[in-house]
Amino acid sequence: MLRFFGRGSAFADTQNCAFFTAGSELVLLDCPMSAFHRLRKLEFPQTQITVVVTHTHGDHIGGIPMLIALSQFVWKKPVTVIAPAQTVADDLKFFIERLDGGDPDAYTLLTADAAEREWLCGAVPVRHVPGLAGRCYGYRLRIAGQDVIYTGDTAELEPFLPYLHRGAYLYTECAAHDTGVHLFIDELLPKLRELKAGGVKIYLMHLDDEKVIREKIKGSGIRFAKLFRSGRVEPAANS
Ligand SMILES: [Zn+2]
Ligand SMILES: [Zn+2]
Repeated sequence: MLRFFGRGSAFADTQNCAFFTAGSELVLLDCPMSAFHRLRKLEFPQTQITVVVTHTHGDHIGGIPMLIALSQFVWKKPVTVIAPAQTVADDLKFFIERLDGGDPDAYTLLTADAAEREWLCGAVPVRHVPGLAGRCYGYRLRIAGQDVIYTGDTAELEPFLPYLHRGAYLYTECAAHDTGVHLFIDELLPKLRELKAGGVKIYLMHLDDEKVIREKIKGSGIRFAKLFRSGRVEPAANS
């Protein structure tokens, strides 16, 4: 299903970034700088690049201006940035064009509602940090015929529960530390076990301490998000 250029939290070496392909489109879920550096060394046949943004923390959008510039000057592939809501679109425009000096003609900025992508079912508002209240989202996706829930950064799993039916894929953030702004493993795990028993396929991402979390999920059938090591970017397959 999704592959990851990184599955770490903000202070990790490789920060969280998932991708999949849809026809001629390479779709990234957020774009930290660490993902940009992976992507710039990669050969991929897709002719358009789309970045779907969950929220505007640096470990989620830091690589977007560089990606747009590289694509404009080197790859010559159109880049589309999809924001979950108009407020976030306005913030991204400020970031890309005013702060970074990006060329407004070098990319397309859309909201999720206006994006008209078959694989994009909708953005789901979540509670994350107070400073970004009302501006943090997860997504409902439909990839290769499967329902995929991607939480983004969130302190609550509840907004996604209505969509987590048997056979659905859940990519959820998960933290070993109890910070109040992420999903703390000790509180999350009982719920995940329940979902797993109900036939939801669960992958953990945005991990702050893999060692601690790996120990806690032992034997649960819950897995870490799959890292993309190398090779070609192939179309999405069920796995
Ligand atoms: Zn983050
Ligand atoms: Zn965040």
